[in-house]
Amino acid sequence: MGNKFIKKETAVVHKGYDSSQHHDSLSIPLYQTSTFAFSSAEQGERRFAGEETGNIYSRLGNPTVRVVEERMAELENGQSALAFGSGMAAVSAVLIHVTKTGDHILCSRGIYGCTFGLLEIMQEKYNISHSFNAMATEQDIEASIRPETVCIYVETPINPTMEIVDLELVGKIAQKHGLKLIVDNTFSSPFLQNPIDFGADYVLHSATKYINGHGDVIAGVLIGKDVEDMINLRMTVQKDFGGIISPFDAWLLIRGMKTLHVRMDRHSENAEKLVTFLKSEPLVKEISYPFDPSHPQYEIAKKQMKAGGGLVSFNIQGGKEVAQYFMNELELIKIAVSLGDAETLIQHPATMTHSVIPELEREKMGITHSLLRLSVGLEHVDDLMADLKQAFIKVETHFAKTSM
Ligand SMILES: *Cc1c(COP(=O)(O)O)cnc(C)c1O
Repeated sequence: MGNKFIKKETAVVHKGYDSSQHHDSLSIPLYQTSTFAFSSAEQGERRFAGEETGNIYSRLGNPTVRVVEERMAELENGQSALAFGSGMAAVSAVLIHVTKTGDHILCSRGIYGCTFGLLEIMQEKYNISHSFNAMATEQDIEASIRPETVCIYVETPINPTMEIVDLELVGKIAQKHGLKLIVDNTFSSPFLQNPIDFGADYVLHSATKYINGHGDVIAGVLIGKDVEDMINLRMTVQKDFGGIISPFDAWLLIRGMKTLHVRMDRHSENAEKLVTFLKSEPLVKEISYPFDPSHPQYEIAKKQMKAGGGLVSFNIQGGKEVAQYFMNELELIKIAVSLGDAETLIQHPATMTHSVIPELEREKMGITHSLLRLSVGLEHVDDLMADLKQAFIKVETHFAKTSM
């Protein structure tokens, strides 16, 4: 079956599955098996020799997992994808794949905390160095490229400040200097941004977030545009480091992914309405949202993203005490890290996701104690606004009494 679809919304529901090969089951079966039985010793020999395609052992591939991989490759305009047991397993696999001792990695100035931790380990144990760059201008980026630089690693929008990296600019520079470009696309999902279109060699996701979307799986996906290179990665780093996904988690991802496009529309729509609401709140100082015309990189965001997504950061008037009081007064919105779920979540980066960064450095990045990050969910936006409103009122009355 050709499985050729014109639109991604169709591919995410149908790609890579032919029910006639699975007892006509409409739902994709869960192949919860560690190994596969060969029909003969000779068949086993042929499969190991690569002369016959087919299943061998689930660390090397599994039919349920393969559906996730095929759908993600299609959604990101890549040629091939690999699913992992976590976003960090995908990050570590690709970085191990493209580097060797003595190499250098050039990063955007904000990256996920555990990716930062991984880079520190690579530096200490394997002498693979890294540096950070604002990625604002061509001259600035080129000045940071060293003879030993092998790849550029970026996130955009950057967590939690929503700073944007110009993918077209970085893609052009990576190509000019023969560097691999790796983009962590977790915050946008494949329905809002496709970095391969701007020259990325690899795109990765913490599928824990929007891809799954239901807060019940930890998983990662890496998408590449060179089939041979991805086969090599599957048969080396993925097989031998072994950070694979379980068939059951892949099955949950398939179930979650089917609604990804519908969810992203609603996340973005709700977020935009909340931005408008927050602007009218006297207690709110700055708001950071990619599709807000006052965002300093609004034009770049519009160029590379289809919508603003579900993450909104804002500063509340006052410091840590006010921020924490406000969070505690919320009734519907949950206090939690992670993002991309149906439930709206709020977190305080300075004491939560970014608490390991030294205070001075953190403040320089704009992550002050008054900064709050919302992962806007799928509830009715009126209920979200009402919850935020009642918490703002409680902050006002409480701190008016204690003279703010
Ligand atoms: C959560 C996250 C990761 C790590 O993913 P896990 O699935 O938790 O391992 C990496 N990058 C970004 C941007 C994330 O938000």
